[in-house]
Amino acid sequence: MTTTYDSRKRILVTGGAGFLGSHLCDRLLEQGHEVLCLDNLFTGSKRNIEHLLGNTRFEFLRHDVTFPLYVEVDEIYNLACPASPVHYQHDPIQTTKTSVHGAINMLGLAKRLKCKILQASTSEVYGDPAIHPQREEYWGNVNPIGIRSCYDEGKRCAETLFFDYHRQIGLQIKVARIFNTYGPRMHPSDGRVVSNFVTQALTGGPITIFGDGTQTRSFCYVDDLIDGIIKLMNSEDDVTGPVNLGNPVEFSMNELANTVLRLTGVETSIDYKPLPDDDPKQRRPDITLAKNVLGWNPQIQLEEGLHSTVCYFQELLRTG
Ligand code: NAD
Ligand code: UDP
Ligand code: UDP
Repeated sequence: MTTTYDSRKRILVTGGAGFLGSHLCDRLLEQGHEVLCLDNLFTGSKRNIEHLLGNTRFEFLRHDVTFPLYVEVDEIYNLACPASPVHYQHDPIQTTKTSVHGAINMLGLAKRLKCKILQASTSEVYGDPAIHPQREEYWGNVNPIGIRSCYDEGKRCAETLFFDYHRQIGLQIKVARIFNTYGPRMHPSDGRVVSNFVTQALTGGPITIFGDGTQTRSFCYVDDLIDGIIKLMNSEDDVTGPVNLGNPVEFSMNELANTVLRLTGVETSIDYKPLPDDDPKQRRPDITLAKNVLGWNPQIQLEEGLHSTVCYFQELLRTG
């Protein structure tokens, strides 16, 4: 889809220099929109948006969402928040502030502008789920005082704020519950499992598996995920979500490690390490709602997506 001058929007992407945010900026620019990319560069980097800096429809603003923001835009995607356990546990108080104060400020901005706002929520709102696979109706099983709580509870409170702004003042909201997503531009040292396994394999290992490796996750390739969140933003007005977005094919960490080793052609040892506290044992989205309401279904299989990711990290390790 491309835009005409009349249908062109000015779109704010918070967290726009991060992994998902930078791919979203790419896609919105490809569609002909203007993009205001806001980021405090905590986990994101200018490298992720370097290729966009010459585009006259792209603007970068260094700003922290925990502070008020006065700009004029037509739509807001709120992605600002560190997403990997290593990064969000680095300064947990700031993580909660980013989710909660950040949501309040971006909702206040949307309220003043009377514009649509999408929240990048997470499968972590389900915690260590007692229901499998997870449907949107499930309220979750979250520890409120553990080491993951700054992220999980921050994101849950942000969802609460989104729904209260919707009910109380009629703000148009869209809430995406994003499941594990991977691909090029993941931070090489953010500690997430795909970036860890791939960089470990490419640098001679060992591969670190936490626990016995039987815990499961479902991995969505970034291009599929970006399709999903743009479809959600452009969905009918009565679609608020929350909508699960993720790939429903589930793998154990042992299976993932073996696939990465096979694709990279590397033979290295596996180092089993203790399982971190509150690490969910299983996770898989039920995406019936996204299929029915958005017509969205991820297309890219794990091996295909991992191949692009391996190529990206090979190049990154080569050029430094
Ligand atoms: P990321 O860490 O690469 O991106 C987050 C971006 O937000 C970074 O560029 C960071 O610098 C910026 N940021 C952090 N705190 C900020 C603040 N206070 N003010 C302004 N900018 C700030 O992570 P990602 O994987 O791209 O995740 C993007 C969003 O999607 C996050 O909200 C995350 O919770 C959500 N999400 C991601 C996944 C996933 O698997 N990638 C899964 C579920 C949810
Ligand atoms: N806000 C902002 N930009 C705006 C409007 C509001 O950053 O254009 C912030 C402001 O800091 C405010 C928050 O959003 O505290 C919530 O705004 P809202 O109007 O909901 O609440 P109030 O201003 O009454 O506290
Ligand atoms: N994990 C692992 N080795 C690593 C990094 C992570 O075995 O080097 C495990 C982690 O314990 C979890 C799964 O992989 O069970 C996914 O971890 P990630 O941090 O990517 O995401 P999340 O736990 O938030 O789903």
